[in-house]
Amino acid sequence: MKDKNYYILTTNQDTQFSRIFSEEKISAIQGDWRYFQCSRRCHDELYDSVETLHKLNDAIGPDLRVPTDMIPRCPKCGAEMEPWVRSWVFLEGKKYHEEHNKLNAFLKKNMHKKVLFLELGVGRMTPMFIQEPFWDLTYAWPGAFYITINPRDAIVPDELKNKGMAIREDIAKVLADTRKIFSGEMK
Ligand SMILES: [Zn+2]
Repeated sequence: MKDKNYYILTTNQDTQFSRIFSEEKISAIQGDWRYFQCSRRCHDELYDSVETLHKLNDAIGPDLRVPTDMIPRCPKCGAEMEPWVRSWVFLEGKKYHEEHNKLNAFLKKNMHKKVLFLELGVGRMTPMFIQEPFWDLTYAWPGAFYITINPRDAIVPDELKNKGMAIREDIAKVLADTRKIFSGEMK
C-alpha cells in the first residue's frame, strides 16, 4: 500500500489497523476498544480506556471478577462506562460522524479516478456497512472495480460481473502470493 492512494474502512474494533496505518487513513465505523462512553449516552464525549483496562485486567481475581468500585463511572451522571463499540447504547456522536466524514471526503475526492474496492473477509452477517456500499459504488462509478477475498462468502453480484472478481481463498495466502508476483518471485 505504501505508494498508493488508499483508505481503510473497517468494522473491526480491535485497533489492529491503527498499529500500522495512521488515523487519517482509517475509518472505524463500529467503534474502537480504546475508548469509553457513558452507558446512558448522557453526553457526547469519549474517554481513553487503555490505562483503565490494564488496571482492570490486573485486578481480575480468581473468581474472574473485578472490585465493584473499580468499574469506571461517567463523570457527568455516574452511570457505568461502556466500551465505545457497536451495541444497543453505541454512541453515534461527534467521533462517529468524524469517522464517516473522513471516509466520505476521500471517496468524493477520488470518485472520478480508477478505484479498486478491495473487500477482505466481510462475510454476510453485516453486509450493509462495507459490502453493499462497495457494490453500489462499483456499479455507479465508471472507473471502479471490486475484488472480494473471502474463504467462504466471496460473492460478486450479476450486475458487477464485468467489474468484479471473487477470490474464495485465505486472505493471508492471497496477499502473500500477490506480493510475490509483484516482486517477481512468483509467475
Ligand atoms: Zn453519563
